[in-house]
Amino acid sequence: MVYMCFLVDQTRKVRRSKPAAGTCSRCGGGARVAEMKTATRFCYVPFYWKSWKAIICTYCGAILKSYR
Ligand SMILES: [Zn+2]
Repeated sequence: MVYMCFLVDQTRKVRRSKPAAGTCSRCGGGARVAEMKTATRFCYVPFYWKSWKAIICTYCGAILKSYR
């Protein structure tokens, strides 16, 4: 039996973050400036990484603003 794998997914990680002014519009939690890292994986093997910055909510994890 041949197992075919066409699974592509993305994982998102916060590399580091620091407090930022403002609150989340969804839950009212505190905002943080975060350095994000997104890895695109094919069959669970990462083949592409992208670093970016965003303002995220510490409580619900929502992305309030992103910088490219
Ligand atoms: Zn929130």
